[in-house]
Amino acid sequence: MSTVDAQLEIAETPVNSLGLELTGARVARVGDMTVRRLLPLRMRRSVGAWCFVDHYGPMSVDGKAGMRVPPHPHIGLQTVTWLISGDVLHTDSLGSEQLIRPGQLNLMTAGRGIAHAEVSPAEHDPALHGVQLWVALPEGSRQVEPAFAHHAELPAAGIGGFEITVFAGSLAGAQSPARVFSEIVGAELIAGRDARSALPLQPGHEHVIFAALGSAEVAGTALQPGSLLYLGTGREQVEIAAPEESRLILLGGVPLGEPLLMWWNFVARTPEEIEAAAVDWREGRFGTVADYDGEPMPAPPLGRLRR
Ligand code: MN
Repeated sequence: MSTVDAQLEIAETPVNSLGLELTGARVARVGDMTVRRLLPLRMRRSVGAWCFVDHYGPMSVDGKAGMRVPPHPHIGLQTVTWLISGDVLHTDSLGSEQLIRPGQLNLMTAGRGIAHAEVSPAEHDPALHGVQLWVALPEGSRQVEPAFAHHAELPAAGIGGFEITVFAGSLAGAQSPARVFSEIVGAELIAGRDARSALPLQPGHEHVIFAALGSAEVAGTALQPGSLLYLGTGREQVEIAAPEESRLILLGGVPLGEPLLMWWNFVARTPEEIEAAAVDWREGRFGTVADYDGEPMPAPPLGRLRR
């Protein structure tokens, strides 16, 4: 086996000594920001219906433009914006305009199609740190009307020294009011002093967990920002311990069981749908995002679309 083969072998079998999948983020660019892209993985396109996980920051945006993601379209998914620090302004083609702060949820349902922009407001917090998540819409809900919701207040639960905020589904007795279209869970865990817990899970769900800040030990595996731990179905609980102020994001759900075709900002099933959405964007049929100072994001060349 050559060195190259050996490296490929390692990259394709990211199973640790406890038999758990532990994968590293890819570095990606979103506008001017460098992000850690944790999902999708080549061998795992979705976890529950979660199909995209970007983690960015913490970074200083003091005296800088900060986040500038120009208007761009989405189909077939929901976007979940979650901040750990800073503030971001969302605008979309429905006319929504919403500032989001840490602990709040911006949930945009693209359904058959929407366009939005996300920017740091003119007067913004000097720090920026957050996650951008996508939830694939299941077959029966892919054509729903586009919608936007902001949840300023979310339910919280305390367990074993962790403060848990549930932004999707339910966990530890707390239920998010957010409208989702498949059985999923999404939560932030903030570690207090001596945080150690056996966190109850839905055995029918598969889960991933990652550290957004600090570190943790989850199911015997050390986690730092930039890696993603996959916990398969059949678990009634998971052991978590973390130093004070560490923050973890837990995502899960019933395995989607639908093959996704993801291209650019679209989640679809066939190349034809992707091509049609790209043409619709080029020809202005997603509607206009008001008050954005700059050009919308052009779609990249279509190239070859693989399922
Ligand atoms: Mn977007």
